[in-house]
Amino acid sequence: MSKYHIITFGCQMNLSDSERIATIIEEMGYEKISQIKGADLIVLNMCSVRQSAVDRVYGLIPQLRRSKAKIIATGCILEADKKKLRDYVQVIDKKDLSKKSFLKVIPQYSSNIQAYVPISEGCNNFCTYCAVPFTRGRLISRDYRDIIKEIKLLEKKGYKEIWLLGENVNQYNFKGVSFSDLIKKIDQIEGNFWIKFTSPNPKDFSKSMIDSFSKSLKFSPYLNLPLQSGDDQILKKMNRPYTGEKYLKLVKEIRKSFKKNRKGLEKEISISTDIIVGFPTENKKQFNNTKKIFSEVGFDMAYISQYSPRPQSLAFNDMPDDVSKKEKKRREEAINEILKKTALKQNKKFKKEIVDVLVLEKDGEYFNGRTRQNKAIRFKSKRDLLGSFVKVKVNKVTSWNLEGEIVKPKLIVISGPTSSGKTDLSIKLAKKFNGEIVSADSRLVYKGMDIGTAKPKDFKGIPHHMIDIINPDDDFNVAIYKEKAIKIIDSIIERGKQPFLVGGTGLYLKSITDNLSFPKIESNEKLRNDLEKKTLEELFLIYQGIDEEGSKKIDIKNKRRLIRAIEVSTALKEGFFKERKEEELYDVVHLGIKISNDKLKERIEKRVNQMVRNGLEKEVRKLYKKYGFNLPSLRTIGYQEWKEYFDKKINLKDLKEKIVLNTFKFSKRQLTWFKKDKRIKWI
Ligand code: SF4
Repeated sequence: MSKYHIITFGCQMNLSDSERIATIIEEMGYEKISQIKGADLIVLNMCSVRQSAVDRVYGLIPQLRRSKAKIIATGCILEADKKKLRDYVQVIDKKDLSKKSFLKVIPQYSSNIQAYVPISEGCNNFCTYCAVPFTRGRLISRDYRDIIKEIKLLEKKGYKEIWLLGENVNQYNFKGVSFSDLIKKIDQIEGNFWIKFTSPNPKDFSKSMIDSFSKSLKFSPYLNLPLQSGDDQILKKMNRPYTGEKYLKLVKEIRKSFKKNRKGLEKEISISTDIIVGFPTENKKQFNNTKKIFSEVGFDMAYISQYSPRPQSLAFNDMPDDVSKKEKKRREEAINEILKKTALKQNKKFKKEIVDVLVLEKDGEYFNGRTRQNKAIRFKSKRDLLGSFVKVKVNKVTSWNLEGEIVKPKLIVISGPTSSGKTDLSIKLAKKFNGEIVSADSRLVYKGMDIGTAKPKDFKGIPHHMIDIINPDDDFNVAIYKEKAIKIIDSIIERGKQPFLVGGTGLYLKSITDNLSFPKIESNEKLRNDLEKKTLEELFLIYQGIDEEGSKKIDIKNKRRLIRAIEVSTALKEGFFKERKEEELYDVVHLGIKISNDKLKERIEKRVNQMVRNGLEKEVRKLYKKYGFNLPSLRTIGYQEWKEYFDKKINLKDLKEKIVLNTFKFSKRQLTWFKKDKRIKWI
């Protein structure tokens, strides 16, 4: 298969275009590679907006030509550059790459966490320093239904941050639907994701836009609002129809609206800007006006550039580039000095605060992410957190980033012996605290084992997880349980709900609360078959011989657990119960249900009678018929006792008594296990 490689220059809009170009080329039968070497087709997605990007392309051409690949240049290219480039490469307008309308092409998103969604293309503003209206043409707004469709699709795929892109987003208007309307429509899309956008023009920020932006909570409290200059005459020369004073007033209105509409929800909106220093004729006094406004706003961040004339732009033809390179550099540094102070002041507001963070990359032992306010933040964690939302407490701030420690999400654990009333209590609490329940019961995972495990039937509208997930003959152990349960707990947290971990299987609970790590030991069928033939006493003695410490902790009546402990200890040559704890994942509140022996026994008797009345015999016969008597999952209380009954060795009364007694003994062993854990609050 022929290979292709795309090299992208310029802004987010170009990066977004490259994602669509990739689809078009792949539909032609090419396969993507990440380097020039080996490519049959190289696409230069260019940017004529900045001279530096153009220079880099010319610098690359000799190397590209040596590669013998076909080279296509597309993207934001000025006529003058097109002419020069044609000597070396084929220049094609991106719209001519496919028969489909360019924005209808489904992009090959380059990240699976963040995605760019163009809402418009081109610009009508003709700022005198800018070449965009000449490279991308006049503004065309994309059909809002396509925008919504794309965002919904991204949400389904699990994207967490979506950037709306356009050269002038707040001039968006598709058949009467304004940017303000679009914000409201997007805000109604369900799902857990943030929206940011870039870039608006101060002149097009209406009151209704401010209102819908600040009221639409999916939209992050972050705004890039290009000032470019703080001097009114320079702004006029730039063809930016606002004044420094108007800009200040706008910032005040936006901040006020956020304070009012997001009170108690999040800190104030963070505002970044773009500044051009050394625009033609900009004198020191005019530059000082920029400095003044720049300080007064107190920006969180700024992208400062030295003016460079772009061919075809209006300033290129009519305004001499008369500020020296040295002076431009000095002015850039002066603005940067102010920014250092204002950004630090703004960042200090987050010290000791707990902020929501989207985790974007791993860098050694650190994770890097962005806050809702688009602030760069880092923190340490041993977990795999890429692409998740986490809470971080900010401990340290500089002008350019924040650093903190992860705040563990709260996990409410409800445990207690069988029949102690865990289900009713957990449903009651989950209703009160917007919760979902994750079962920590080693028997409820099995499909078809319903009556004998007292599987709850009526969840009273509360989602329950880790129930009926496997067949009785499927391989399952605590390591698999832990992996699956953590995924579910994290997704409950991500959806903004409270997870409740509820059950009576001590090791399952501990695997999550203490983040125990379990070495992956495959089942050893031969060893298992040999051990199956042994009695409980024989198994215990074997286990004691290889792991004396562990033998003091294990449930000596639990054949399955004994076999697994022998299997693991033999393979590892170390104890099954050796605690391999990792950094704890959750801030655990562990509640244990207290119940007297008499009451417990009474409840167990009642429950066993009810199970038999509900058809336990039929359920056990069905399971034995399908799986036989030796299936480990069926050698459990409520099921194992039936064999003697079916063999006519005991009558129904004896059978029920046996189940009651075994359940009672088991409950006592559960209590002994839980009582060792001093963190449990008994209620
Ligand atoms: S608003 Fe001005 S700077 Fe922005 S793309 Fe349009 S012309 Fe260029």
